[in-house]
Amino acid sequence: MIKISKRAAGIQPSPTLAITAKAKKLKAEGKDVVGFGAGEPDFDTPDHIKQAAAAALQSGFTKYTASAGIDELRAAIAAKLKNDNRIEVAPSQVVVSNGAKHSLQNLFSALLNDGDEAIIPAPYWVSYPEMVKLAGGVPVIVDTLEDDQFRLNPRMLERAAGSRARLLVLCSPSNPTGAMYHEEHLKALLEVAIRKDLIVIADEIYEKLVYGGARHVSFASLSPEAAARTITVNGFSKAYSMTGWRLGYAAGPAEVMKAVDNLQSHAASNPVSFAQKGAVAAVTGPQDAVETMRREFEQRRDMMVRALRAIPSVTCVEPEGAFYCFPNVSAYFDTQINGRTLRNSTDFAAALLEEDLVAVVPGADFGAPDYIRLSYATDRGTIVKGLERLTAFCAKLKPARAAVTA
Ligand code: PMP
Ligand code: GLU
Repeated sequence: MIKISKRAAGIQPSPTLAITAKAKKLKAEGKDVVGFGAGEPDFDTPDHIKQAAAAALQSGFTKYTASAGIDELRAAIAAKLKNDNRIEVAPSQVVVSNGAKHSLQNLFSALLNDGDEAIIPAPYWVSYPEMVKLAGGVPVIVDTLEDDQFRLNPRMLERAAGSRARLLVLCSPSNPTGAMYHEEHLKALLEVAIRKDLIVIADEIYEKLVYGGARHVSFASLSPEAAARTITVNGFSKAYSMTGWRLGYAAGPAEVMKAVDNLQSHAASNPVSFAQKGAVAAVTGPQDAVETMRREFEQRRDMMVRALRAIPSVTCVEPEGAFYCFPNVSAYFDTQINGRTLRNSTDFAAALLEEDLVAVVPGADFGAPDYIRLSYATDRGTIVKGLERLTAFCAKLKPARAAVTA
């Protein structure tokens, strides 16, 4: 047996990807699975983006590029950050990577020394704590409350930020809750971040998918002091339905981005050359496809929230952005179905998939064991069918004690 490193041994596989793979496998076996697992838009990539990449490929744009990405794309992203986000950066302060996931991993590696703490509000996206650990850091998880719309508040941040605290990871709109931090929330957190000298990693990958008139505000746009301590992370996967292209980026203070570029130049070199040309078309081209997708997501959100709230004893905060619902299903813990007891969200999700072929992600994987996550990045028919099954599943669950004595 070959012994693997402590670093790798301490890492769990990505549960979101694992559940998506499991649902796909069951489907391939001919099972009628409803997949609410994947955080992946069901739309195709808009045509003009595909055409730009295809043209680049055809014209022989197939060689290494600068490791941080082509100048044209870095300049286009810098202009987008200025226009959309009120963030002023030079193109040299933008590094394009193989997905926002890669941007985040680069950042944790560039910023954390062994034992440095990264503050991560829970519910969190599954990969943050694992990435921090991979970089030698220590994740400090701070629980937020459903009653506060799952927002970290300044008092919580103050309490969590000890002497080893180096950075805060903020995701707005949030995966998995859909919660958003509005300007007043961000300003209150900024005040603590300055006092505690925290770097802020602002994951804004869902910024375009906001509903009900909500307005996305970028942390780095709050003030020059905010910009000096913030690295903004974004990507193409969600807004442009480009998950398989593997393109994301980070932008922030020059010294940080230089370190990120150095790391990437050894670990991965450039993101795919012709994909970068597609990304230029995505940022500089027409944005109407983004708006069409956003509107459709909003309709689906409304449908899903309504159906979830109609299930007895299930509560669900209305998500303001992203494409996930995060209902509290803890009223159904310690119940039984077909002789098996559901003790927590992991048991609940496993039984739901096996009994009724609905794939969801257990909240435990997001640091919030009372919940499950459902993605509404799927068509309306699937949402109706899956919610009918979930409703029927809950109706079948019997209190564990009653089932035992029966
Ligand atoms: N951040 C969040 C919050 C996400 O949900 C995702 C989803 N994949 C990512 C970053 C990474 O996206 P990608 O690597 O596809 O750009
Ligand atoms: N971010 C998406 C999700 O949470 C895609 C899967 C992943 O990258 O983990 O489902």
